[in-house]
Amino acid sequence: MREKGAFRLTKRAVCMWFREQPALFGSAALYALLNAVIPYITLWFSAQILNELAGARQRELLIQKIVTLLVAETVLLLLKALVFRWNTALSDGFCMKLYEWKRHFDKLISMDFRDVENPDTHKLLNAVQQTSQWSSFGMRMVYWQFQEFLEAVFQFMGGIALSVSLFCLPVRAGAGWLTILNHPACIALVAVLLGGVTMLSPYLETISTKCWIECDEACTLANRFFGFLSNLMSEGKRALDVRLYRQDIFFEQIDSIQDSYGTKSKAARYARGKAGLACAASTAVSKIFTGLIYLFVCLKAWGGAFGVGSVTQYVGAVTALSRGLAKVLEIVGEAGVNAFYLEREFSFLDIPNQMYQGSLTVEKRADQHYEVEFRNVSFCYPNTDDFALKNISLKFKVGERLAIVGQNGSGKTTFIKLLCRLYEPTEGQILLNGIEISKYDYQEYMHIFSVVFQDFHLLAFPVGQNIAADGVYDRDKVQSCCRKAGVWERVASMAEGMDTVLYKDLSEAGVEVSGGEAQKLAIARALYRDSAFLILDEPTAALDPLSEYEIYARLNEIVEDRTAVYISHRLSSCRFCDEILVFHKGCLVQQGSHDTLLAQKDGKYRELWDAQAQYYVADASCLSHSMPG
Ligand code: ADP
Repeated sequence: MREKGAFRLTKRAVCMWFREQPALFGSAALYALLNAVIPYITLWFSAQILNELAGARQRELLIQKIVTLLVAETVLLLLKALVFRWNTALSDGFCMKLYEWKRHFDKLISMDFRDVENPDTHKLLNAVQQTSQWSSFGMRMVYWQFQEFLEAVFQFMGGIALSVSLFCLPVRAGAGWLTILNHPACIALVAVLLGGVTMLSPYLETISTKCWIECDEACTLANRFFGFLSNLMSEGKRALDVRLYRQDIFFEQIDSIQDSYGTKSKAARYARGKAGLACAASTAVSKIFTGLIYLFVCLKAWGGAFGVGSVTQYVGAVTALSRGLAKVLEIVGEAGVNAFYLEREFSFLDIPNQMYQGSLTVEKRADQHYEVEFRNVSFCYPNTDDFALKNISLKFKVGERLAIVGQNGSGKTTFIKLLCRLYEPTEGQILLNGIEISKYDYQEYMHIFSVVFQDFHLLAFPVGQNIAADGVYDRDKVQSCCRKAGVWERVASMAEGMDTVLYKDLSEAGVEVSGGEAQKLAIARALYRDSAFLILDEPTAALDPLSEYEIYARLNEIVEDRTAVYISHRLSSCRFCDEILVFHKGCLVQQGSHDTLLAQKDGKYRELWDAQAQYYVADASCLSHSMPG
């Protein structure tokens, strides 16, 4: 049953690999064939040459055989070297990581956001990646197994072809007791003996492999620590803390590292005990096999079954045949062990998409006339009972500047997550131009929104590529978006303008930008996208008062004809909006312009405004004179 499961999982993994990387598998198969067959060609020709030397000794024939051997070997070895290069270029550690990263990344980007936010998803992915890096088990192992399995099968088949005659050629009639070797029972006995010894070796290897697998779990936590530690010192901000508080000393005392890798660890105990012994026994068994085969072949040659030249051919062929068979069995055993890891990796890759994907085309409107309506929308996060949003009903009017304010935890970000279809409402409907948003094709729907999240990320690529989110882009448009976001002067002052790489992760010449500059660049990126809706989550949180003033002073220029949604708990930033939505404990408690809301003396807005008033005095003194509105 378990073998059946292992076969099914391995087959699925091979098909998946083959679909993703056909060239990798093609080169691996060709290399396996050449690697297995070349030694047999050498063996066969060498036997022919030796037999000729020990027999008729015809000069022309001898030269002909030597030349053929040399030419065949040279051509095949050259071909093998070429295929090896090709295969290595596709299969080295970096590429393997890249394939793996892409497979996991594609899954993460396409799965429902509720699963991306689910800690269980990350725990599962973490375990998959840890195992792959630590012991290569999982999908990566299937690739190596595929290559080795093919090679072993070719080796086995070649061995059979070259050794069949060993068992068929009879010892001379006058060879005395050696004629017993012609008896079918004796031949069967030798075959069974050789087969038995052959099978013992992979059995012992599998015992040793299983020991390492048992250590895998124990080492996962330690590996996470190692990963965490290496990031610590490479991240500028964290390195400062580590240095200041000498946190490195603290890490030396972490028990799990000692437990996993120390001399008293399970891995070390296995290496000294069961696993080490199994490995040693496996080597001993292979030596016994070599002894047995030499004995049988030499006795048959002694009895005149074949010439002396064939001794090397038969010993080599049967040894290789046995190695091939042992490898096949070893891989089968290993595939059984690997099945557990494949199942785990597939359980990540198979996380189903529960959300309706939609297929309707979003009408492309030059006038940006899109209307969004929330109709009695309530929402509860998965695995929680509390409603993060309760019965929200509202309509966005086109071209409006809308602000969403409220204390932390009042539901502002959740509102945007629902709008961007990261989650589906638990109750109620969200409509775009009268049609439920889940019915639209997801990518098309998302294209009408540009969001600058509070914890946005810029990549360590050139500024222009960051803003366009593309390698090929319109330079004039990048410049104009930077100007609107108030960051063009900074970009122009960089050594290579918009071609300057951000941050130092990937380039020594990379430029470090401040939090405020990064936020402006993120705003420029949102503007480049030409979306109908511009959503800014705390757009000025990282900006100093002067930069904040700059942004608000040019708000109309920045937003143009888009519908803009601002999320903020800094009320001074929102008073210039046409409409302000006040959220409190998941409910939309007030809605209206700044002046209307402020006039409602018992309202939440007034309460928040009064609470923040002390900051306006200090913070907004330089802004209040010239703000729009
Ligand atoms: P705001 O943006 O106004 O600070 P949020 O929309 O982030 O508020 O949060 C609203 C409520 O939902 C809070 O009670 C918060 O704890 C909860 N919440 C937010 N994200 C999640 C999540 N991924 N899972 C469970 N609860 C969440």
